[in-house]
Amino acid sequence: MKEILLISGKGGTGKTSLTSSFIHFADNCIACDYDVDASNLPILLQPQKLMTVDFSAGETASVDEDSCISCGLCAELCRFEAIDSEYRVIPLACEGCGFCARICPVQAITMHARPSGRWFSGVSRENHPVFFAELRPGEENSGKLVAQVKTMARKTAAENAIPLIIADGPPGIGCAVISSMVGVDLVVLVTEPSRSGFHDLQRVSQLMRLRGIKGVLIINKWDLNPEICEEIEDWARGNEMPVLGRVPFSTQIADSISQAQIPGADEQIKEMLFPLWENILKQLSIERKE
Ligand code: SF4
Ligand code: SF4
Repeated sequence: MKEILLISGKGGTGKTSLTSSFIHFADNCIACDYDVDASNLPILLQPQKLMTVDFSAGETASVDEDSCISCGLCAELCRFEAIDSEYRVIPLACEGCGFCARICPVQAITMHARPSGRWFSGVSRENHPVFFAELRPGEENSGKLVAQVKTMARKTAAENAIPLIIADGPPGIGCAVISSMVGVDLVVLVTEPSRSGFHDLQRVSQLMRLRGIKGVLIINKWDLNPEICEEIEDWARGNEMPVLGRVPFSTQIADSISQAQIPGADEQIKEMLFPLWENILKQLSIERKE
């Protein structure tokens, strides 16, 4: 089984358009969206949800008012000031360290799993198994939720002999991105020819270098700025990063996204994107079935 991850270092590069198209081109694959803060891939794949599972990455304290003898120890000693003057826990401030539960003289404090988000599995309209998730606003631990989604996708791939997982990665260089890269076979970086796109590409590739992960590059909407496109290609050559290809700006792709359609399902767009997919398969040394 092989895993492909598409990342960009920033949003808006067209990464999800390409991911959905590659999923469309693949014979037999599992689709994942590791952007647990704002998953967009399901909008294009339109999966029927089969399963919703609560995700909890930590604990939170709660005080049993009937047992509490108002000794004040917990409020005094909680270093996060998460217990108010009436000895009630302030959920957003509680870090779940469990210290108050250990020092309460009458065991009036208990720790509970804190709901941090949910993950979903489903089947896309093209019959691909799909995994994605959503983290609650303000919650941390996005990396753990990504790892959970990945574990479920890998388990499904192993149980059903599905040879490929194609994942849409999160933006940025935070823990969700790091978690999404772990153990994948090929990282495909998608960039656009803008100063900010180039800068974010360099940041994410630095992160990959630190972790010993190699990547390949696709330059999307290259004709919007051919000069920066050349600069990016020079930089990629200097960093031994193969450039799989350039994609021109296309109003057809934009239209297809605005109608929640998979761009690669359109024959004309397919002509433009399919060579990239063939290059990805070559990188993975996978024979394409006719
Ligand atoms: S330590 Fe226990 S008994 Fe004391 S105020 Fe806190 S909850 Fe109440
Ligand atoms: S679990 Fe830790 S952070 Fe939360 S209220 Fe207790 S001592 Fe404070």
